[in-house]
Amino acid sequence: MQGRMMQQPLLISSLIEHATRYHSDTAIISKNTDGTITTTNWAQVAENSKRFANALSDFGLTLGDRVATIAWNNHRHLESWYAISGSGLVCHTINPRLFPEQLIFIINDAADKVVLFDKTFLPLIKAVKPHTPTVAHFVYLGAFDQDVADAIPDVKFYDVLIANHSAQFEWPELEENTASSLCYTSGTTGNPKGALYSHRSTILHTYAIALPDSLNLSAKDVMLPVVPMFHVNAWGTPYAAAMVGCTVVLPGPGLDGASLVHMIDEYKVSIALGVPTIWQGLLAAAQQSGSKLDSLKRNVVGGSACPAAMMKAFRDIYQCETIHAWGMTEMSPLGTGNQLKAKHLQLSDDEKLNIRLSQGRPPFGVDLRITDEENGTNEVARDGHTTGNLQVKGHWIIDSYYGKSSNALSADGWFDTGDIATINEDGYLLLSDRAKDLIKSGGEWISSVELENIAMNHPEIAMAAAIAAQHPKWDERPIVIAIKHKDSQITEQDLLDYYSDKIAKWQIPDKVIFVDSIPLTGTGKMLKRDLRELYGNVLLTE
Ligand code: AMP
Repeated sequence: MQGRMMQQPLLISSLIEHATRYHSDTAIISKNTDGTITTTNWAQVAENSKRFANALSDFGLTLGDRVATIAWNNHRHLESWYAISGSGLVCHTINPRLFPEQLIFIINDAADKVVLFDKTFLPLIKAVKPHTPTVAHFVYLGAFDQDVADAIPDVKFYDVLIANHSAQFEWPELEENTASSLCYTSGTTGNPKGALYSHRSTILHTYAIALPDSLNLSAKDVMLPVVPMFHVNAWGTPYAAAMVGCTVVLPGPGLDGASLVHMIDEYKVSIALGVPTIWQGLLAAAQQSGSKLDSLKRNVVGGSACPAAMMKAFRDIYQCETIHAWGMTEMSPLGTGNQLKAKHLQLSDDEKLNIRLSQGRPPFGVDLRITDEENGTNEVARDGHTTGNLQVKGHWIIDSYYGKSSNALSADGWFDTGDIATINEDGYLLLSDRAKDLIKSGGEWISSVELENIAMNHPEIAMAAAIAAQHPKWDERPIVIAIKHKDSQITEQDLLDYYSDKIAKWQIPDKVIFVDSIPLTGTGKMLKRDLRELYGNVLLTE
């Protein structure tokens, strides 16, 4: 017997329809590329998304065509997302921090038909344009601008298109598995690969990230997605914001600590999301300005492991709850979020902190397991000790990469994340490394993440990367590349001594190299591959 419930496809257009119907006057505050602020609301986002959907349909695009965006988090970018996906096209967000060759590769691989861009990226667009033959239209996200018109012949202007197109548009009733958006992996090894999300996977992911044990979102929130819309769709937050009808504060290009402190205080942000390097900048700026970040109740840290010192600073100085989350491009991205269980509530603050430093538990809709080999099917114990290859399964996890015929799964249908981890009896995931970043010393594995966490807990260390250096006897030995805090006098020996009561003697790094900066990927992660190239031989030459 069949249930007797309505069958409605899960579509992204229904999010913006919901937001405009039930939260029309809730503010959307956006910092523009020129630094000015535009305040609109969900009704205006919805209206402009329909106007832009009409403009896109005049371009003669067909269902599934890719429309790329190279833009900051701002209101035009948000409106265009709903226009693109809502009308059955694929919204392809591109990371502008990639090298031009990678950008050209990605645009050609996706065969983008349209590219939308902010003014910051005009030089980049000029450079890649001759190498992207599939792109028929470039749209500048702003009002008419003579510099832009001179640089890109035939460029269209978003504000002009909006003004010249009607706000009447019927969102098509798509099949829910229709492709909606496309993100490329950060490509730290080899060429980037595309993860192609569907309307259905996006809506299910949106429900999951809003849940109390995920981001705990509601219409009362003021959300600041610092994580860029080109980094796995700002972790899905622009969709979740429409689902719950919260205020959104879009920081534009202002990702430095001082700008973020200002946005948080000025607009009373209650929840903000970003990678650890962002929070480092924010903590330093708040300390300098004396701001107490009074409105900020939760901050979400993901993309790389959250250092203990950071979580403690948010807890003790700012009374802000840090939610540590883990995910990846191939997972839309949320895989786990860290919230306590009822039985943890009577623990001491430090015991709670210890639990909350792990990557957390999966929401319903994602399943995790650890296997004893890469792409293997043999699950190991969920005992918090047995380390292995982390695999995942669920409604918003890819089964194959965009444009690739082979499926990306193990023989029994799980996706291998490339992360090395344990899962404990309560289901909490603890990542120890990326498989390729593990350090193998004399046949024993050493976790680079653990070495980094210890270094970054030292009050005089701002950032640290642990990498494998080639060693004549042990094959590989750990070394640490670190940035000192301003004015610190810490020496190599001080930091090595700091390790001595925290890990086994053979795991203590062989060397510390102090540097002024560490190369980062386009999404703010430490580029350990480059560090290995630079410093991987230092122990051989000594
Ligand atoms: P990306 O697809 O570029 O977002 O990268 C995903 C990878 O980032 C994961 O497979 C992890 O290796 C790493 N990652 C994401 N979140 C965390 C976290 N909270 N702790 C440690 N590593 C993380």
